[in-house]
Amino acid sequence: MKIPARLQRGLAQFSILILLAFVAWLVLHRSPSIPSDVYPYLSSLSPALVEQCTLEDRTSPTILWMDRLAIKSTLPEIEAQRLLDQLNVQVPFAALNWGVLPTKTIGTVQRHREILEQYPYYQPNRYTFPVMGTTWFEDSFGADRERGKRRHEGTDLFSKEGTPIVSICGGKVEQLGWNRLGGERVGIRGDDGNYYYYAHLQYISTLLVKGKRIEAGEPLGSMGHTGVALTTPDHLHFGIELANGQWINPYPFLVVWQYWGEKRY
Ligand SMILES: [Zn+2]
Repeated sequence: MKIPARLQRGLAQFSILILLAFVAWLVLHRSPSIPSDVYPYLSSLSPALVEQCTLEDRTSPTILWMDRLAIKSTLPEIEAQRLLDQLNVQVPFAALNWGVLPTKTIGTVQRHREILEQYPYYQPNRYTFPVMGTTWFEDSFGADRERGKRRHEGTDLFSKEGTPIVSICGGKVEQLGWNRLGGERVGIRGDDGNYYYYAHLQYISTLLVKGKRIEAGEPLGSMGHTGVALTTPDHLHFGIELANGQWINPYPFLVVWQYWGEKRY
């Protein structure tokens, strides 16, 4: 059967329209674009190094924290020290003498510094430490749970029962109430797109409603040992799930938020 030329043209135009509509839909629905090197770098940072750089910030405050971390996390110790010595005598990062380092390596250090500077996790005052009281916590991300059945996908922060727990950021209440593992738990969809999970609470604030707007520092409830924490000391289980469903280690961020909270910028 022969298709008339007019019909053929019409079909072609129709296909182009469908294609354009599809492209427009893709553009409108794509998630906020985060450059593909951001999470690989942030999740490659060793929590111990982040903690070390944070502590060194107290003893030699002339060096910007993000300068120190970008250099130490990218270069071997001798090279790093040569640059830190310059920063120590107030040479700005932009004016560093990189010596014989290859251009590509210099570019990597500069890019890492840019990520630390731009990415909100590490910006002073963007996030509030979640426990309002004396607390201790260690890096237990990935530790075995229930004899190999699952891995620990967060950080446990220990304190007294009833210690106030607050939201680390602004966002919306997405989950509220009981689940088997978490007990009394609150899930906040942060303004940054991540899901923040607070579990084992003693009580959840009665002011919280699903879908309600919440600000950084607003009370979520109090510390307890509900859910699988029934027989453990009181603690807050805190988790961070990226918009792509990946749980990342909250420990290095908590170290920094606690530090900046104490410094009171
Ligand atoms: Zn936990």
